[in-house]
Amino acid sequence: MEEAYIRGLEESVTTLSGVGPAARKGYEGLGIETKSDLLALSPRSFEDHSKITPIDAVADGGFANTRVMVLRHDFFGGRSFSKRTLKIQVRDCEGKGHQLSLLCFGRNFMEKTIQVGGVYYFYGQIQSYNGRTQCTQFELKRWDDPDDPPPEWGKILPVYPLHTPLTERNIRRDVTAVLSSVVHFKDELPEKVVTQYHLLSMDEAIRQLHRPQNMEKYDSARRTLAFDELFYMQLLTRRGHAERKGNEISKPNKTELKLIESLPFSLTKDQMTSLSEIRKDLDSEEPMNRLLQGDVGSGKTLVAWISALHVVAEKKQVAFMAPTELLARQHADSAAALIAPLGVRLAFLTGAVKGKARKELLGQIADGNVDIIIGTHALFSKEVVFHNLGYVIIDEQHRFGVEQRLALTGKAQVPDLLLMTATPIPRTLSLTVFGSLNVSTLKTMPPGRKPVITYLVLESSRQRMYDSIAVEFRRGHQAYFVYPRIDDTGESELRDVTTMFDYLQKQYPGVPSALMHSKLEEEEKMDILERFKKGELKYLVSTSVVEVGIDIPNATCMVIEHADRFGLAALHQLRGRVGRSSLQSYCFLVFSKELSDVAKQRLSVMKQTTDGFEIAEKDLEIRGAGDITGVRQSGFLDLKFASLSNNLDLLEETRDAVTAIMRDDPGLLKAENAIIRQTMTDSPVFQQPSAS
Ligand code: ADP
Ligand code: MG
Repeated sequence: MEEAYIRGLEESVTTLSGVGPAARKGYEGLGIETKSDLLALSPRSFEDHSKITPIDAVADGGFANTRVMVLRHDFFGGRSFSKRTLKIQVRDCEGKGHQLSLLCFGRNFMEKTIQVGGVYYFYGQIQSYNGRTQCTQFELKRWDDPDDPPPEWGKILPVYPLHTPLTERNIRRDVTAVLSSVVHFKDELPEKVVTQYHLLSMDEAIRQLHRPQNMEKYDSARRTLAFDELFYMQLLTRRGHAERKGNEISKPNKTELKLIESLPFSLTKDQMTSLSEIRKDLDSEEPMNRLLQGDVGSGKTLVAWISALHVVAEKKQVAFMAPTELLARQHADSAAALIAPLGVRLAFLTGAVKGKARKELLGQIADGNVDIIIGTHALFSKEVVFHNLGYVIIDEQHRFGVEQRLALTGKAQVPDLLLMTATPIPRTLSLTVFGSLNVSTLKTMPPGRKPVITYLVLESSRQRMYDSIAVEFRRGHQAYFVYPRIDDTGESELRDVTTMFDYLQKQYPGVPSALMHSKLEEEEKMDILERFKKGELKYLVSTSVVEVGIDIPNATCMVIEHADRFGLAALHQLRGRVGRSSLQSYCFLVFSKELSDVAKQRLSVMKQTTDGFEIAEKDLEIRGAGDITGVRQSGFLDLKFASLSNNLDLLEETRDAVTAIMRDDPGLLKAENAIIRQTMTDSPVFQQPSAS
């Protein structure tokens, strides 16, 4: 390939030679699907083979990089010959000529390959043990002629995070293959910006990230890639910055009113306020860029549907994106019940829709025969072409990466954008990162909701908990039992869903239930959820797949086992699955005695309050006041190169750079900014196809 954008290599890593199904699993575990994902995998450290580091210059645990002479082969341990382990004694050819024992666990074959008297290149971690220097992790390569070093010599090699069955060697090989398949990575920033902020070209940056000449180059590479990422994030979220003029009120149309009247309840005050804020944005010339934040159960979805009708009436399409198949399906069902009767044409698109059905659906979307398209991130794959996309709604937006959001918003010229979240964003952060994001908040809960009663349950009072849930079953209510993992691999005493499922069936004989976890087929999950919704199943035994968004109002009990293993955000989300009607609901946080201080604090926060905003604040406090990493870890922002905690300076620099450009050339029409326009049009993640 001649040229490419670093984010533009969309082929799967499995197209690389040597990457089979096993490696693919490993890559999936690292969140890597495409070649571009692989390029974005930053090394976590480096092996420095670039200069001689003799053994005596290395502290315990450090790495030596030197030439050694093999003195002799010894064996140790094991009663029988075959169980003994080879120990290679070497002497450093550099420094003070230190001696070292290389313990060859499982590598006795080295007796044959490593010759006594030979000189070898050595790289390994030095440990001192009982006053002796030894080493178990090392590489040896023949190096007789000092002028003819082995290929590793002189390089700084990346050390990547791993996931079984991948090895460092695999990842290095694959990264090299991707890097060498592209002659030149395209620039994305105007020359002026590159010079002013002392950045590298994109080509140099991505290559130096993985194969740095030295650590200074590596730092520049990281800085450049992070700058690029934040620059485009700021640029794309800057839309809609202009103050909205006038204070005319936008009125709901007939379909919106019809839907509101058809509801068995009335909208809360905050739902109405948010709706009028959104309507005003939708009617304005400027594209909307709004965040709808509201605690779990506050009724965000309904606001989204009503606002969607406002856009459909204008003959524009609406895309509604959810983070999981399960949630997308739930939303599609609720839309089918609520808005299909109003004559609005709905479509449901996820990765699970395949083959002919998919083709047909894509055709319908492209021809404008559907008004609202509900789906997962499949909505922003390249093959989806909208007829006239006017409005994008993203549910649980913190679950999506920034790039994914940008990809979808880039699908049309300037669609209105509504992000929904139950994870409130600290104001300072929203200002710095999003510059201009407008916020609507649902504070009031639908009437008649009773706060969930939360119990902290010690192992010893487990039986009492089961008994009180039995009472709820008798009242016709339902329950969730949540566990942190799927299988009992024997390594810990964590209760896993499968064994607990059997256990609970004995606890509640004759009460219908099902097992739910992420390894089930989507169809099966949907089916279980459907039966749970209908009340055919009384309880679900589940991993945290039920965490986000599931809405089953008749469920009144949430049991979270090993509650201390979950973060506050997850606990709050899980608890939010109950307390969704006027029924009194209960949350049981089960834990064992040995709790860390942090876990103790978390559980006591959960006991004290059900207010998501307060919990988010406490979360930050527990993680360390003002620690923005906390926000990052809570999944709010998923940046590949930039980190908001380490790159606050970059955040400011990119904001300044973007502000300067927008002030000087708001339409990006000047030649010097052509590269920005080009990148936004051509790079798949920043894509903005011409208006339809
Ligand atoms: P979330 O904000 O967590 O996404 P949902 O949109 O799932 O919340 O709404 C939670 C539940 O509350 C749903 O069953 C929904 O139908 C119901 N609901 C929404 N608005 C109201 C209201 N004004 N009065 C009563 N129930 C409501
Ligand atoms: Mg929701």
